[in-house]
Amino acid sequence: MTENDYKSIGARLKVLAHPERLRILDALRREPECVCHLEALLGKPQPYVSQQLRLLREAGVICDEKQGQNVFYRVCDAQVLAWLDVMLGPVNAVRGRQGRHEPVAECNCPKCAPVILSLAA
Ligand SMILES: [Zn+2]
Repeated sequence: MTENDYKSIGARLKVLAHPERLRILDALRREPECVCHLEALLGKPQPYVSQQLRLLREAGVICDEKQGQNVFYRVCDAQVLAWLDVMLGPVNAVRGRQGRHEPVAECNCPKCAPVILSLAA
């Protein structure tokens, strides 16, 4: 471990030490999600959710990827994924990380409301 390793771990632990950001990461470690899904999940306005996502992205914990009209966020730090498994319990024991999307009632994101979206198209 070098001085920089300790700094890097400390900075990431700091960004993780927040209940709403942990909630976001608990969703993102299962599957990539878009900001509107996270808004519905947290029940918070978009500026608040975007602010948390920005902090997580600046810390290198999450990455974003544009898919069609939507931007999906995912956890792209393998060390943080391992920490989340320890802190929040493993999610990949049964079916693997993918396919663990947890729908939110009243959410209109492409994963929760694909039927509504295809009807609108
Ligand atoms: Zn959704």
